[in-house]
Amino acid sequence: MQPIELNEEQLLTYLQNTETNNRCGGHPDFREWNNETPELKSKLIKIGQVADSIQPDADQYNFPYWGENTPVLLTKYPYYGCDLLQCSACNAVFFYYLELGGHGA
Ligand SMILES: [Zn+2]
Repeated sequence: MQPIELNEEQLLTYLQNTETNNRCGGHPDFREWNNETPELKSKLIKIGQVADSIQPDADQYNFPYWGENTPVLLTKYPYYGCDLLQCSACNAVFFYYLELGGHGA
């Protein structure tokens, strides 16, 4: 089965129609980019990926992507290359990015 590709509009619709609960306390460590924990990974289910048609814009690196209050923009690193995962306990949706450059995955 091919993973579902979601563009921005489809992702927003999905999020608007997804009811979350507080079973996991809101996953506060993951309101910014962070390494997954084995505990979190055991709960995550892949629901799709950011559509291949979404490509980085020209000034993509001229943009802060780290930190709790940085905006989510699908045309910026690393969002356009992300899988979309959902927590099976609370239904929170995660952007999942596997960095393959540098020293290791
Ligand atoms: Zn959860």
